[in-house]
Amino acid sequence: MQDNTLKRIVIAIDGYSSCGKSTFAKAIAARLGYIFIDTGAMYRAVTLHALTHGAIRSGIVHEEEVVALLDSVDISFRFNPERGASDIYVNGDLVEGRIRTIEVSNCVSRVSAIPAVRTKLVAMQQEMGRRRGVVMDGRDIGTVVFPDAELKIFMTADPAVRARRRYDELTAKGQQVSYEEIERNIRDRDYQDEHRAIAPLRKAADAVVLDNSRMTVAEQMTWVMERIAALQ
Ligand code: C5P
Repeated sequence: MQDNTLKRIVIAIDGYSSCGKSTFAKAIAARLGYIFIDTGAMYRAVTLHALTHGAIRSGIVHEEEVVALLDSVDISFRFNPERGASDIYVNGDLVEGRIRTIEVSNCVSRVSAIPAVRTKLVAMQQEMGRRRGVVMDGRDIGTVVFPDAELKIFMTADPAVRARRRYDELTAKGQQVSYEEIERNIRDRDYQDEHRAIAPLRKAADAVVLDNSRMTVAEQMTWVMERIAALQ
Protein backbone atom coordinates (compact mmCIF):
# COMPACT_ATOMS: atom_id res chain seq x y z
CA MET A 1 0.00 0.00 0.00
CA GLN A 2 1.42 3.35 -1.03
CA ASP A 3 0.90 6.41 1.13
CA ASN A 4 1.42 9.56 -0.93
CA THR A 5 0.67 11.91 1.95
CA LEU A 6 4.03 11.24 3.60
CA LYS A 7 7.10 13.33 2.81
CA ARG A 8 9.68 11.36 0.79
CA ILE A 9 12.75 10.61 2.82
CA VAL A 10 15.93 8.52 2.73
CA ILE A 11 15.94 5.49 5.03
CA ALA A 12 19.44 4.15 5.68
CA ILE A 13 19.71 0.61 7.05
CA ASP A 14 23.14 -0.54 8.13
CA GLY A 15 24.31 -3.42 10.25
CA TYR A 16 25.92 -6.80 10.53
CA SER A 17 25.87 -9.55 7.90
CA SER A 18 22.73 -11.65 7.57
CA CYS A 19 20.54 -9.62 9.92
CA GLY A 20 17.72 -9.55 7.42
CA LYS A 21 18.49 -5.96 6.36
CA SER A 22 17.48 -6.50 2.73
CA THR A 23 14.24 -8.33 3.57
CA PHE A 24 13.31 -5.52 5.93
CA ALA A 25 14.36 -2.75 3.51
CA LYS A 26 12.39 -4.37 0.70
CA ALA A 27 9.25 -4.59 2.85
CA ILE A 28 9.53 -0.93 3.90
CA ALA A 29 10.04 0.18 0.29
CA ALA A 30 6.99 -1.82 -0.84
CA ARG A 31 4.87 -0.28 1.93
CA LEU A 32 5.94 3.29 1.12
CA GLY A 33 6.22 2.96 -2.68
CA TYR A 34 9.94 3.74 -2.40
CA ILE A 35 12.90 2.39 -4.37
CA PHE A 36 14.87 -0.31 -2.53
CA ILE A 37 18.60 -0.51 -3.16
CA ASP A 38 20.65 -3.43 -1.86
CA THR A 39 24.17 -1.98 -1.90
CA GLY A 40 25.68 -5.30 -0.78
CA ALA A 41 24.55 -6.70 -4.14
CA MET A 42 26.69 -4.05 -5.86
CA TYR A 43 29.84 -5.06 -3.94
CA ARG A 44 29.00 -8.70 -4.64
CA ALA A 45 28.58 -7.93 -8.37
CA VAL A 46 32.05 -6.35 -8.55
CA THR A 47 33.44 -9.37 -6.68
CA LEU A 48 31.80 -11.79 -9.12
CA HIS A 49 33.20 -9.81 -12.05
CA ALA A 50 36.68 -9.94 -10.48
CA LEU A 51 36.35 -13.70 -9.97
CA THR A 52 35.21 -14.39 -13.53
CA HIS A 53 37.94 -12.14 -14.98
CA GLY A 54 40.74 -13.74 -12.99
CA ALA A 55 41.51 -10.85 -10.63
CA ILE A 56 40.84 -13.18 -7.67
CA ARG A 57 42.85 -16.40 -7.85
CA SER A 58 42.90 -19.17 -5.23
CA GLY A 59 41.00 -16.88 -2.91
CA ILE A 60 43.61 -14.10 -3.21
CA VAL A 61 42.23 -10.69 -4.21
CA HIS A 62 44.73 -8.89 -6.50
CA GLU A 63 43.83 -5.31 -5.70
CA GLU A 64 45.48 -3.59 -8.66
CA GLU A 65 43.84 -6.06 -11.07
CA VAL A 66 40.41 -5.46 -9.52
CA VAL A 67 40.95 -1.70 -9.87
CA ALA A 68 41.99 -2.14 -13.52
CA LEU A 69 38.69 -3.96 -14.18
CA LEU A 70 36.49 -1.26 -12.66
CA ASP A 71 36.03 0.79 -15.82
CA SER A 72 34.66 -2.26 -17.60
CA VAL A 73 32.03 -3.09 -14.93
CA ASP A 74 28.66 -1.64 -15.73
CA ILE A 75 26.18 -2.33 -12.93
CA SER A 76 22.47 -1.80 -13.49
CA PHE A 77 19.19 -2.72 -11.83
CA ARG A 78 15.90 -3.77 -13.41
CA PHE A 79 12.69 -4.16 -11.45
CA ASN A 80 11.47 -7.75 -11.26
CA PRO A 81 7.75 -7.75 -10.37
CA GLU A 82 7.86 -11.42 -9.31
CA ARG A 83 10.39 -10.64 -6.58
CA GLY A 84 9.01 -7.19 -5.87
CA ALA A 85 12.59 -5.89 -6.05
CA SER A 86 15.21 -5.03 -8.62
CA ASP A 87 17.53 -7.66 -10.06
CA ILE A 88 21.16 -6.74 -10.56
CA TYR A 89 22.92 -6.96 -13.92
CA VAL A 90 26.62 -6.74 -14.78
CA ASN A 91 27.32 -5.62 -18.34
CA GLY A 92 23.77 -6.65 -19.25
CA ASP A 93 23.99 -10.14 -17.67
CA LEU A 94 21.57 -11.06 -14.89
CA VAL A 95 23.77 -12.04 -11.93
CA GLU A 96 21.23 -11.99 -9.07
CA GLY A 97 21.68 -15.71 -8.28
CA ARG A 98 25.42 -15.92 -8.89
CA ILE A 99 26.35 -13.13 -6.47
CA ARG A 100 24.89 -15.00 -3.46
CA THR A 101 27.25 -17.99 -3.49
CA ILE A 102 29.63 -18.73 -0.63
CA GLU A 103 32.56 -18.20 -3.04
CA VAL A 104 31.51 -14.57 -3.57
CA SER A 105 30.69 -14.17 0.15
CA ASN A 106 34.19 -15.33 1.06
CA CYS A 107 35.90 -12.63 -1.08
CA VAL A 108 33.48 -9.69 -1.00
CA SER A 109 34.77 -8.01 2.17
CA ARG A 110 38.30 -7.85 0.74
CA VAL A 111 36.99 -6.38 -2.51
CA SER A 112 34.79 -3.87 -0.68
CA ALA A 113 37.81 -2.62 1.31
CA ILE A 114 39.48 -1.37 -1.93
CA PRO A 115 39.15 2.45 -2.01
CA ALA A 116 38.51 2.74 -5.78
CA VAL A 117 35.71 0.17 -5.57
CA ARG A 118 33.99 2.18 -2.84
CA THR A 119 34.44 5.49 -4.68
CA LYS A 120 32.72 4.10 -7.76
CA LEU A 121 29.84 2.40 -5.95
CA VAL A 122 29.18 5.18 -3.44
CA ALA A 123 28.85 7.69 -6.33
CA MET A 124 26.30 5.40 -8.00
CA GLN A 125 24.36 4.98 -4.75
CA GLN A 126 24.24 8.73 -4.12
CA GLU A 127 22.94 9.28 -7.65
CA MET A 128 20.24 6.61 -7.20
CA GLY A 129 19.01 8.25 -3.99
CA ARG A 130 19.30 11.85 -5.21
CA ARG A 131 15.53 12.28 -5.48
CA ARG A 132 14.91 10.71 -2.03
CA GLY A 133 12.10 8.17 -1.60
CA VAL A 134 14.65 5.41 -1.18
CA VAL A 135 15.44 2.64 1.30
CA MET A 136 19.09 1.65 1.04
CA ASP A 137 20.76 -1.10 3.02
CA GLY A 138 24.46 -1.73 3.52
CA ARG A 139 27.29 -0.98 5.93
CA ASP A 140 28.04 2.74 5.43
CA ILE A 141 24.75 4.22 4.23
CA GLY A 142 24.06 6.32 7.34
CA THR A 143 27.72 7.25 7.86
CA VAL A 144 29.05 7.89 4.33
CA VAL A 145 26.53 7.51 1.49
CA PHE A 146 23.64 9.47 3.05
CA PRO A 147 24.87 11.08 6.27
CA ASP A 148 21.79 13.34 5.93
CA ALA A 149 19.30 10.43 5.82
CA GLU A 150 16.15 11.32 7.75
CA LEU A 151 15.95 7.86 9.33
CA LYS A 152 18.97 5.70 10.14
CA ILE A 153 18.58 2.19 11.45
CA PHE A 154 21.42 0.02 12.72
CA MET A 155 20.43 -3.65 12.66
CA THR A 156 21.88 -6.42 14.72
CA ALA A 157 20.93 -9.94 15.83
CA ASP A 158 22.55 -12.81 17.72
CA PRO A 159 25.31 -14.37 15.57
CA ALA A 160 23.80 -17.85 15.97
CA VAL A 161 20.37 -16.61 14.82
CA ARG A 162 21.98 -14.90 11.81
CA ALA A 163 23.99 -17.98 10.81
CA ARG A 164 20.91 -20.17 11.09
CA ARG A 165 18.83 -17.79 8.91
CA ARG A 166 21.52 -17.59 6.22
CA TYR A 167 22.05 -21.36 6.30
CA ASP A 168 18.30 -22.00 5.86
CA GLU A 169 18.13 -19.44 3.02
CA LEU A 170 21.05 -20.93 1.06
CA THR A 171 20.10 -24.58 1.56
CA ALA A 172 16.51 -23.75 0.50
CA LYS A 173 18.04 -22.51 -2.77
CA GLY A 174 19.84 -25.84 -3.14
CA GLN A 175 23.36 -24.62 -2.30
CA GLN A 176 25.70 -27.17 -0.70
CA VAL A 177 27.03 -25.38 2.38
CA SER A 178 27.74 -26.37 5.95
CA TYR A 179 26.42 -24.44 8.94
CA GLU A 180 30.03 -24.05 10.21
CA GLU A 181 31.13 -22.49 6.92
CA ILE A 182 28.28 -19.96 7.05
CA GLU A 183 29.02 -19.10 10.67
CA ARG A 184 32.72 -18.59 9.87
CA ASN A 185 31.89 -16.44 6.84
CA ILE A 186 29.56 -14.19 8.86
CA ARG A 187 32.14 -13.78 11.64
CA ASP A 188 34.96 -13.04 9.19
CA ARG A 189 32.94 -10.53 7.19
CA ASP A 190 31.77 -8.69 10.30
CA TYR A 191 35.38 -8.45 11.50
CA GLN A 192 36.71 -7.26 8.13
CA ASP A 193 33.83 -4.82 7.60
CA GLU A 194 34.31 -3.30 11.06
CA HIS A 195 38.09 -3.06 10.84
CA ARG A 196 38.72 -1.75 7.33
CA ALA A 197 40.37 1.67 6.90
CA ILE A 198 37.68 3.23 4.71
CA ALA A 199 34.00 3.49 5.62
CA PRO A 200 34.08 0.75 8.28
CA LEU A 201 30.82 -0.68 9.56
CA ARG A 202 29.78 1.70 12.37
CA LYS A 203 26.54 2.77 13.91
CA ALA A 204 25.98 6.42 12.97
CA ALA A 205 25.66 8.58 16.08
CA ASP A 206 22.05 9.38 15.18
CA ALA A 207 21.00 5.84 14.18
CA VAL A 208 18.43 3.83 16.12
CA VAL A 209 19.39 0.26 16.96
CA LEU A 210 17.10 -2.60 15.98
CA ASP A 211 17.96 -6.01 17.41
CA ASN A 212 15.68 -8.39 15.54
CA SER A 213 16.90 -11.67 17.09
CA ARG A 214 13.43 -12.36 18.40
CA MET A 215 11.24 -10.22 16.15
CA THR A 216 9.12 -11.18 13.16
CA VAL A 217 9.16 -9.03 10.00
CA ALA A 218 5.63 -7.86 10.94
CA GLU A 219 6.88 -6.67 14.36
CA GLN A 220 9.80 -4.91 12.70
CA MET A 221 7.39 -3.17 10.32
CA THR A 222 5.28 -1.87 13.22
CA TRP A 223 8.46 -0.62 14.90
CA VAL A 224 9.68 1.23 11.79
CA MET A 225 6.31 2.67 10.73
CA GLU A 226 6.01 4.33 14.16
CA ARG A 227 9.39 5.95 13.63
CA ILE A 228 8.52 7.09 10.10
CA ALA A 229 5.22 8.55 11.32
CA ALA A 230 7.09 10.45 14.05
CA LEU A 231 9.22 12.16 11.37
CA GLN A 232 6.27 13.65 9.48
O1 C5P B 1 24.77 -6.93 2.47
P1 C5P B 1 25.65 -8.07 2.04
O2 C5P B 1 25.92 -9.04 3.14
O3 C5P B 1 25.20 -8.71 0.78
O4 C5P B 1 27.05 -7.36 1.70
C1 C5P B 1 28.14 -8.07 1.22
C2 C5P B 1 29.43 -7.35 1.59
O5 C5P B 1 29.54 -6.14 0.84
C3 C5P B 1 29.59 -6.94 3.04
O6 C5P B 1 30.09 -7.99 3.85
C4 C5P B 1 30.58 -5.78 2.92
O7 C5P B 1 31.92 -6.26 2.82
C5 C5P B 1 30.22 -5.16 1.59
N1 C5P B 1 29.39 -3.97 1.73
C6 C5P B 1 30.02 -2.78 2.02
N2 C5P B 1 29.29 -1.63 2.06
C7 C5P B 1 27.98 -1.64 1.83
C8 C5P B 1 27.31 -2.86 1.56
C9 C5P B 1 28.05 -4.02 1.55
O8 C5P B 1 31.22 -2.75 2.23
N3 C5P B 1 27.30 -0.48 1.84
